[in-house]
Amino acid sequence: MRKKGLEIMAGILLLMLLVAGCGQSTKKASGIQVVSSLDFYGEAAQAVLGNQGHVTSIINSPSLDPHSYEATTNDAKLVAKADVVIQNGLGYDSWLNKVVKSAQPDDQTVLTVSQLMKQSNGANEHLWYDLKTMPTLTKRLVTEFSKRDPKHKATYQQNGAVYLKKLASLDAQLQQLKAQAKGKQVAVSEPVFDYALAEMGYKVANQHFAKAIEDGTDPSPKDITTMRDLIKTHQIAFLVINKQEESPIIKQMHELADKEGVPVVRVTETLPAKKTYLTWMQQQFDAVRKAQDSK
Ligand SMILES: [Zn+2]
Repeated sequence: MRKKGLEIMAGILLLMLLVAGCGQSTKKASGIQVVSSLDFYGEAAQAVLGNQGHVTSIINSPSLDPHSYEATTNDAKLVAKADVVIQNGLGYDSWLNKVVKSAQPDDQTVLTVSQLMKQSNGANEHLWYDLKTMPTLTKRLVTEFSKRDPKHKATYQQNGAVYLKKLASLDAQLQQLKAQAKGKQVAVSEPVFDYALAEMGYKVANQHFAKAIEDGTDPSPKDITTMRDLIKTHQIAFLVINKQEESPIIKQMHELADKEGVPVVRVTETLPAKKTYLTWMQQQFDAVRKAQDSK
C-alpha cells in the first residue's frame, strides 16, 4: 500500500514536472514572432530580438533556390502566426507575399526590404549586396520591436547597436577595395553581385549578357563574342561568377578567364552553411582583394 502510494506520488510528481516543462516551452514560444523569407534578414531580426522572441527563416539552406521556391502549408501557418514578416520584394520572394496576402492578421507588420531601400520594380533584386540594406533593416527592426514591446526598448536598441557595429566593419573593407578599383571594368556571369561592385566603383561591361543569364535565356552570339573579347584583351579587372549557377556557357567563360590569367571572383546568391552575413561578405570581399592583388 505504502509502495503503491509512493508510486502514485511519483506519478503525480512526474506529471507536475511535465506540465511545468510544457509551461516553460510555451513561454519560450512567446515574445515577438518573426518570419523572414531569407536567412540573412532573419539573422538581423534575431540579433535585435535577442531572447525576446523567435525568428524563422524560410530560405535557410544554400540548397534552396529563392527564385523558384514555393511556399508550403507549414510556411503559411508560420506566417499566419507571425507578428512581423520580412520579405525582400521586387518579385524575388513573391511566394511569401502570396501567403501574407491570404492570411494577414490585423496587427501583423510586413517589412518589405525594397521599400525600406526605396527601390521600385525593375531594380536589381539582390538588395543584400548593397551595404546600406542590412543597417537600414536593422534600424527599422529596432523601431518595430520597441513599438510592439516598449518594456524592452533599451534591449532592442542595445542589441541593434552591437549588430550595426559589426556590420560597419564591412564599410572599411569596402573603402579599401574602392581605392584600388579606380573605376575599372569587370564582367559578371549574372547581376547578383552588382550592388557591391557599384559601391566599389567598378563598371559592369557585359550587362546584356548577365541579364540573359539572370532571365534564364541564352545570351546572344554577339553577347558571347563581346564577353570573350573582354576576357581575351584583358579589358576587365576580373570576372565575377555565381558559383551556384555554373551553366555550360559560364563554365566556358570561367575556363577562358583561367587560360588568359584573368582573375575570377566567386560569389553566391544565398548564405553558405556555417556563415553569418558578415563572414559571408568578408569572404567575398577578400576574394575581390585577391583579384586586385594578383595584377
Ligand atoms: Zn538571383
